[in-house]
Amino acid sequence: MPWVYTARHRHHDPQVELDTSALASPREVPARIDAIAAALLADEGRTFGAEAQAPTDHGLAPITAVHDPDLVTFLADAWQRYQREVRPVREVVPDVFAMAGLRRGMPATAPPAAVAAQLGWWCFETTTPLVAGTYDAARAAVDVALTAADEVLGGNPLAYAAGRPPGHHATRSLYGGYCFFNNAAVAAAYAAALTDGPVSVLDVDYHHGNGTQEVFYERGDVQVVSLHGDPRRAYPFHTGFADEVGGGRGRGTNHNYPLPAGLTDEGYLQALGEALAAIDRFAPGLIVLSLGVDTAATDPLGDLGLTTAGFHAMGALIAQCGLPLIVVQEGGYDLSRIGADTAAVLRGLRGAAETAHTPEPSAGPPPLG
Ligand SMILES: [Zn+2]
Repeated sequence: MPWVYTARHRHHDPQVELDTSALASPREVPARIDAIAAALLADEGRTFGAEAQAPTDHGLAPITAVHDPDLVTFLADAWQRYQREVRPVREVVPDVFAMAGLRRGMPATAPPAAVAAQLGWWCFETTTPLVAGTYDAARAAVDVALTAADEVLGGNPLAYAAGRPPGHHATRSLYGGYCFFNNAAVAAAYAAALTDGPVSVLDVDYHHGNGTQEVFYERGDVQVVSLHGDPRRAYPFHTGFADEVGGGRGRGTNHNYPLPAGLTDEGYLQALGEALAAIDRFAPGLIVLSLGVDTAATDPLGDLGLTTAGFHAMGALIAQCGLPLIVVQEGGYDLSRIGADTAAVLRGLRGAAETAHTPEPSAGPPPLG
């Protein structure tokens, strides 16, 4: 199975974020993807490629096919501008958000000019700091997803994009939720354009993929199917309800499956079966899988109860669709499990046994490029 990785993800390395009313150490850290890469390398080429592929540069066009070009321009130098216009600081976070209720009944305004005001125009929350290398890492994460897409569009039935920062919370014109560019949505739009056929996005991250939903909400050619913690209790709170079914030409192509707290493997796989039936009815040419493993029982940001064996069963069930799969990494925040759980899903997708290739404890740490 080809997989794509670049160390440029480490350029997005915040030390602090504002989360649940506290300054906290970030959860979305470089060690996440390096733990996954180590787990795949430990397999020594039996199921996964013995080496990661480097991403190829796809330029800005696939990004601006999904995102507002002005969001891209803003992110390219917002951190540097903040240093000059406001004050030198390592993590840049918005203070004031451009909420519709501030200007009810008043004339529409142009986007603001000052960087401090622009932050609250282009970002919707506070857990997603910009640091000096954020834009470079976010651009690289898109290229990682698009390079995996190229593998699948070239005839490979399965490819995995081991990238971060994740993407599924980023809408056309907003970043947030640890996400800057929506890697999976960019890959899905790219695949839909190049195949001229229907594409499904299946999002199994614990959190609702609000950004992917928003990008495709009124499009009939890309179906979005998401299983996630019920937004009545789970981030991002304001989207992800079952009655969000798509609009306009996209009516009937958006499917949300809000899940109760504590759901374990059996209940999760039952809901996944219903989601896969919706994909089967849509009859796509391929699936983009937004793979978050923050549904794990031990994940600090989730409250579901999946086991590593459950993740393998998830992959095996999705594989029964028999469709080509572009797998794009989203969340997963238990660093002790993220590698094993991600590898378990990928082995299930590949039809490989979960326990057959457990490396010997004496093998030592894997080499990391
Ligand atoms: Zn998540």
